[in-house]
Amino acid sequence: MALTTPPAGFRGTFRDDLAARAIYGEAAGIERILPLGVAVPADADDVRTLVGWAAETRTPLVPRGSGSSMAGGAIGEGLIVDLSRLDAIAPVHVARRTIRCGPGAVRDTVDRAARAVGLQFPVDPSSGAFCTVGGMASTNAAGAHTLRYGAMRVWVEALDCVFSDGSRGELRRGVAPPALPILRRALAALAPVLAAEGSTPSRHPGVRKESSGYGLADWAASGDIVDLVIGSEGTLALIVGLELRLAPLLPHSASLLGAFATLEDAVTAADRARLAGAVACELLDRSFLEVARHGGTVVPAPEDAEAVLLGEVEASSREEANRVAREIEAEFLRSRATAVRLALDPETEHALWALRHAASPIISTIHPGLKSMQLIEDGCVPPSRLPEYVRGVRAAFERHRFRGVIFGHAGDANVHVNPLIDVREPDWRARAEALLDEISTLTGRLGGTLTGEHGDGRLRAPLLSRVWPPETLERFAAVKHAFDPDAILNPGVKIPIAGARPFDAVKYDPSLPALPEPARSALARVERERAYSRSRLALLDDATLDARAEGV
Ligand SMILES: Cc1cc2nc3c(=O)[nH]c(=O)nc-3n(C[C@H](O)[C@H](O)[C@H](O)COP(=O)(O)OP(=O)(O)OC[C@H]3O[C@@H](n4cnc5c(N)ncnc54)[C@H](O)[C@@H]3O)c2cc1C
Repeated sequence: MALTTPPAGFRGTFRDDLAARAIYGEAAGIERILPLGVAVPADADDVRTLVGWAAETRTPLVPRGSGSSMAGGAIGEGLIVDLSRLDAIAPVHVARRTIRCGPGAVRDTVDRAARAVGLQFPVDPSSGAFCTVGGMASTNAAGAHTLRYGAMRVWVEALDCVFSDGSRGELRRGVAPPALPILRRALAALAPVLAAEGSTPSRHPGVRKESSGYGLADWAASGDIVDLVIGSEGTLALIVGLELRLAPLLPHSASLLGAFATLEDAVTAADRARLAGAVACELLDRSFLEVARHGGTVVPAPEDAEAVLLGEVEASSREEANRVAREIEAEFLRSRATAVRLALDPETEHALWALRHAASPIISTIHPGLKSMQLIEDGCVPPSRLPEYVRGVRAAFERHRFRGVIFGHAGDANVHVNPLIDVREPDWRARAEALLDEISTLTGRLGGTLTGEHGDGRLRAPLLSRVWPPETLERFAAVKHAFDPDAILNPGVKIPIAGARPFDAVKYDPSLPALPEPARSALARVERERAYSRSRLALLDDATLDARAEGV
């Protein structure tokens, strides 16, 4: 399908030239798909115009925040809808501890607004400097402090949505959904599904974080349909506004590092740290420490440590923060830590946490041919199965001849795994597919989920049967059909397109034909500038990349 004219009445930016399509052909993950075009709505009414037109013309839409998601949820063959310009933030409602904002508001900007009045927005993905709150709600995002504060779902009070027929309405906790025909039909169709959730909830028992599938179990438990839209990755509705809850700000913190000779000891210590009041407890596996040392980072742990934990506490006074940190130190030692280091002032804390961020930049310098691929980056298992999971991942790396780094949120047993893949080796693709296949099966066997915080995207949609039983997959399909019967919203995400495979669109394949100009230069600039939406929007506005201006 070719696009030449924007929908009547659409006031935002609308582009379908090759350069614009290339700029939005990639997000943070491993895939590239050239979309039909790009629409940047001017406001929420513009989103309605666009979705109404898409419903009439059966044009698939791919909602997008900053494009920082790794699983291919923000790319696709349809029309990209860049919502990052809808970034207004209203003043904090201090008494109610809430804030209203557009979906394109950046997470750290929202948090700064909250901190200015003694509150905080406690969901803290590492991508907080550039990801949007709309993207976070759509993936049920989380962060290091989720151990204490929970993931995004808990912090969303209301969502202003545009549904697949172009109608708009607000879903608010504790309030009946608006009387829109599409919602009335969806709720009637899903009544049996919701009833079945009562006896067999769509959950992985014991798993502490979940971004896979639809939040049916949470909807059934709360009765709030907002819980279903959270984590739905743009497949049920476009979010055009949010009301977020805020938490009191605890101004003092302290941190500590513990080294462990076995994974079991580290996992036991992480659980004890959580119970003792840690707000974060991150795991750096041996593989991660090796890469950090390789890059010259000083790792304050014995050479033979199997794993390191980084813990953090927050409190209203310095004395209290230090007291809890010392309590956790005692728990680490009781769990047979071979070394512990306390950080009781901001500078030492900062230095300790620098280790957590050391590996990523180093990975890219290990070898020019090595690509760190986010293939299996987000598995989450019941905490007692974490050692088995990490060992299984290490064994799979060895069997398929890959190096890689393993790190993540130990307290929640949510682990990021980045294999380092030399794409010049002729068999890398077959080996990587086998690796993904094996680890997905392992995750299912351990009662885990494929994604604790990043979402299924296109990458994992074909793998959901590894971790969800057939009756749950049927419920997910019923949800999608009820909300989006013509499959206009992000088709291929959550519910796989027949025959789709996880590696269909991997951008690193050297046998892929090179993109023609000006798409190639556009993508090279995106790559150079590590562009998330704001800079992609700037590129869209750059006349040198406007193919039509060049007469291409
Ligand atoms: C370096 C790095 C570190 C990261 N660390 C973390 C982390 O610690 N924790 C974590 O959870 N994630 C992390 N991520 C992943 C990513 O940042 C999150 O998934 C984030 O929530 C995505 O936000 P975004 O604005 O970039 O959304 P996008 O990537 O643009 O979109 C994500 C999904 O949401 C949908 N979507 C976006 N906006 C809307 C909307 N308004 N309405 C409907 N659907 C929408 C898209 O279709 C897509 O399916 C990291 C990513 C990077 C690159």
